[in-house]
Amino acid sequence: MTSGRWHADPAIYNREVPDQTSPIILAENLTKVYRSGRIEVSAVRGVSFAVERGEFVAIVGPSGSGKSTLFYLLGGLTRATNGRVVIDGVDFAALTDAERTRLRKHRIAFVFQKFNLLPTLTAMGNIELAYAVSGRKEPLDHKYLDHLGDLLSIRSRLGHRPSELSGGEQQRVAIARALITRPAIVLADEPTGNLDTKNSEAVLEMLVLSNRELRQTVLMITHNPEAAQVADRTLHMRDGEIEKVENGAVGAAGGAHRGASRAAGPGPAGV
Ligand code: ADP
Repeated sequence: MTSGRWHADPAIYNREVPDQTSPIILAENLTKVYRSGRIEVSAVRGVSFAVERGEFVAIVGPSGSGKSTLFYLLGGLTRATNGRVVIDGVDFAALTDAERTRLRKHRIAFVFQKFNLLPTLTAMGNIELAYAVSGRKEPLDHKYLDHLGDLLSIRSRLGHRPSELSGGEQQRVAIARALITRPAIVLADEPTGNLDTKNSEAVLEMLVLSNRELRQTVLMITHNPEAAQVADRTLHMRDGEIEKVENGAVGAAGGAHRGASRAAGPGPAGV
């Protein structure tokens, strides 16, 4: 029974990471088969890769290539048919559903295409609620929230409800909501899918900035080749497999060390 190891490992719940040298995400021979009656669909077929701490990885591919399924597998939102996902040294398959939920809440944050902000709460309320739900013992770090607000150029917008914010601002609030818990990993599913070009660029810049300034590991699913250009590495999916791995302009893992060649530029105030 692995739950003993799980409970005996408080580092999972804290910010300290047990082994800083191991990959933060490890996918081994990951396979997902959907079954409906006699029909089987192999959505992900024996995918293996590792993501290093501080890396920004994009996953691209045509519709139906298995990107969303891979996202659900990596986020612990669905179980693999075969193979395994190891997050920060912890194998999802070895956990009970409750433990998996706890790991997810403590180590992974999600950014979705549709922002998913609660309309009746202000931006600040949305961020505070996400923090409360995460189950962290320590109170919300308002200095860190101010820092995020500055970084994402939304500090003056936090008192507003989503309907009073532009699409780009809403997505940047969603990014702040994801980052406030200091997750090990941000999983972003088509984060620019609902945005026009200008707002898309702004949101991508903010994801890059959070990756560089906060050394945040980001894994982004997109069908937009331009969005993928900001990544250190791009995994190309086709028919449930990784058919090609492409290094970005600056190369592989390096997190905060990367140079100005991929600089995000000034904050896009007013977008
Ligand atoms: P993408 O995100 O790249 O569009 P998906 O992961 O959504 O790809 O889908 C991969 C394949 O799995 C497709 O053939 C799709 O029809 C199938 N699929 C996805 N979700 C399900 C499901 N819940 N049940 C059955 N088949 C599914």
